[in-house]
Amino acid sequence: MLTRRDLIKAGFAIPILAYTFGSSRLIAQKKMGSARSCGFYVMQFGTFKLVALEDGLQMLPFDKLLTRTTPEHVRSRLKRDLLTSPVPVSTNAFLLDGGGRRVLIDTGAGSLLDREVGLLPHGLNAAGYKPEDITDIVLTHLHVDHGGGLVRAGKIAFPNATLHVARKEADHWLDPAKRAAAKQNQQETFAAAPKILTPYRDAGRLRLTADGDTIIPGITLISRPGHTPGTLEIKVESNGHTILFLGDMLHSEQVQFAEPDIAFTFDENESSAIANRRTVLAEAAEKQYWLAFAHVSFPGIGHVRRAAKGYDWIPVAYGVDA
Ligand SMILES: [Zn+2]
Repeated sequence: MLTRRDLIKAGFAIPILAYTFGSSRLIAQKKMGSARSCGFYVMQFGTFKLVALEDGLQMLPFDKLLTRTTPEHVRSRLKRDLLTSPVPVSTNAFLLDGGGRRVLIDTGAGSLLDREVGLLPHGLNAAGYKPEDITDIVLTHLHVDHGGGLVRAGKIAFPNATLHVARKEADHWLDPAKRAAAKQNQQETFAAAPKILTPYRDAGRLRLTADGDTIIPGITLISRPGHTPGTLEIKVESNGHTILFLGDMLHSEQVQFAEPDIAFTFDENESSAIANRRTVLAEAAEKQYWLAFAHVSFPGIGHVRRAAKGYDWIPVAYGVDA
């Protein structure tokens, strides 16, 4: 009988659903101390195998966290989707396997956040990979829910990986003057950044990147500042297909696809974040690019279509290859 791993090796798309009603069960299981559940989703993307990895859910009170709007407006938007604030929000990372490399895009929170996240290693294992298999890691940005999984007990969690971080991002979060001037809600990342980056730098595994750099041919890093000063769009082109990994360029799928001019309180520069969100969504809608977001419901992969003032989100159909 074919096992799940056999099927994945053969390139079939295998979803494991651990969200919607699964999510509350998952959290309950963790609290009971039983084995952690995890989620991963596989699809073929050109010559790459693309694996979405679920790090867990965060409960986000979007009526308090979204800016350039009102709490009433946000609550009415959520109500349309039968939701009330706070909203369960996925944290997704992605693995691209191809060309002899295994490139991880973001790492989840590891143990650096006191929230119901940090499940990525379990999903990775369930998908058939060990931490030693990862050859490259790209961070969309340095916030802890994306970079916390880089280290475990102060040591490198992916011993064979080169870590690619935008130079602008590393410079910002390692700068004591920037830290002193930053808002309270940014302090968690300023405190975490040296813990995350130093072990890789000391091991000679940290590569600081510039706008337009590539990881391997077909994987290009594009600077999209706003949410943070060094936020990256990771553009992957293969066999005529394009997918953009957009990290935190959008946080509330219920609100910000339809109204991309609404911002998020953790955006370092709201105007730049909005401008870049508008740019990438317009390009993706026009060219029908695939998109992959860190905080859109797992697996966070889909397309956008132009709507009245903004866009509609069209999630990937489970079981459909690119
Ligand atoms: Zn995030």
